[in-house]
Amino acid sequence: MDIKQYLLESEKTNSHLFNPDERAKNLLHGSIGISTEAGELLDHMKKHIYQDRDLDVVNIKEELGDIMWYMAIILRALNLDFEEILDLNIQKLRKRYGEEFDEQKALLRDLDEERKILEGKETK
Ligand SMILES: [Mg+2]
Repeated sequence: MDIKQYLLESEKTNSHLFNPDERAKNLLHGSIGISTEAGELLDHMKKHIYQDRDLDVVNIKEELGDIMWYMAIILRALNLDFEEILDLNIQKLRKRYGEEFDEQKALLRDLDEERKILEGKETK
């Protein structure tokens, strides 16, 4: 499924209390949801590492999907282009690291230059 279809399909399963015109409430709903679903993922990892439970990849996939469902609320609320976000993320990371991770570069990152990339501005 592509992201445009996902945004349409996922919206159908939102609460009957959902109102697409209440932007701030929708942004908060998405933000809280991402956090709680990330917590479920973290709890799974806690049980795997500290309670010796099996790693359940099916559950991990479920939680990643749940996180995406809440991300979709924010994408719709702000009419954001998910593919652009993915592209900007990679551009930012290339500015920071070049072609591969480097611990020193992680410490010395230029946040002003990274911000310019995210704003679609030219960088040096
Ligand atoms: Mg979940």
